[in-house]
Amino acid sequence: MLKNKILVTGGCGYIGSHTLIELLLRTSYNVISIDNLHNSSLKTLERVAAITNKTVKNYAIDLCDATALAQVFDENPDIVGIIHFAALKSVPESVAQPLLYYRNNVVSLLNLLEITQQRNINYFIFSSSCSVYGNVATLPVHENLPLQKAESPYAYTKQVGEEMLKDFVANSPTQVIALRYFNPVGAHVSGLNGEDPRNPPTNLLPIITQTAAGLRKSMTVFGGDYATRDGSCVRDYVHVSDIANAHIIALQYLIDQKNTKNFDIFNLGTGNGITVLEAIEAFEKVTGITLNYIVGERRGGDVAAIYSDTTKSSNLLGWKTEISLDDMMLSAWKWQQQMIKER
Ligand code: UDP
Repeated sequence: MLKNKILVTGGCGYIGSHTLIELLLRTSYNVISIDNLHNSSLKTLERVAAITNKTVKNYAIDLCDATALAQVFDENPDIVGIIHFAALKSVPESVAQPLLYYRNNVVSLLNLLEITQQRNINYFIFSSSCSVYGNVATLPVHENLPLQKAESPYAYTKQVGEEMLKDFVANSPTQVIALRYFNPVGAHVSGLNGEDPRNPPTNLLPIITQTAAGLRKSMTVFGGDYATRDGSCVRDYVHVSDIANAHIIALQYLIDQKNTKNFDIFNLGTGNGITVLEAIEAFEKVTGITLNYIVGERRGGDVAAIYSDTTKSSNLLGWKTEISLDDMMLSAWKWQQQMIKER
């Protein structure tokens, strides 16, 4: 049997849905999704269909349910690779409910790896995060940098996930890549798909666009006294479609057997550190909207600055970001307006 199907877990989520779009538009793989709709909705798949003219079947099961998971593989014996996004991802929520995060993020990965082994799935891409680096002293961060203590249960689940994968491949034919995301932002350039979580957002970009739309009276820049060029925190913002494309490139890199290691790790960032105030300024410039903000207290758990060393992903995967900071801002704003129209 020709195996030509990719399983995307978390296909109704933010990066998952943008990856579905790129898989459907750029590759000939058949695609299915598993998403329990905990923090997402099936509406996202309608948006994916509007952009691609293709439909994706979602199995609304929980990856912690090994029996239900086995049924999906029974129904789809042609799965060749897995892109595993499905996870909880809020740092403050993970501090408040650590066991929820350990169960959800770790048990789901364990179940998925067990079925990967049982069904001889050879290619596996894992969503990791730059939060695995912890508080780093060296910038930009390179994949070889020793990891510091995780600052939250969320970050620890990603460190554990990477360790599980490393141990797994030591005795398995499966080839694995973990992708460490920096700060994914923006929405599909059409403005028709973007982040649409059930929970209120805490990330900078949705806060900016909600403030611009008048859904919030004002916003706070968390900290103006960091040792950075303007006192606000530095992050590496990267467009969600660039991140999505990296998954397809990484998967194909494994399928084409270009990898020299069974388990490898790549950063996904632009390499440009942007301060919060610079992000606000970029948004104001491209939209012509003046944001109502104040510079306030630091937020607990924030590192002062982190941005990516892009050498490895560029040299080995050949992945380069294509979407500028201005276009990240514009697409995020388009998407905010689209969400208002839809409601
Ligand atoms: N931030 C901010 N105001 C907000 C939300 C975020 O100043 O209302 C800052 C935050 O302190 C951090 C940066 O924006 O320095 C990015 O935060 P985000 O939560 O988007 O991502 P993180 O880097 O924490 O994963």
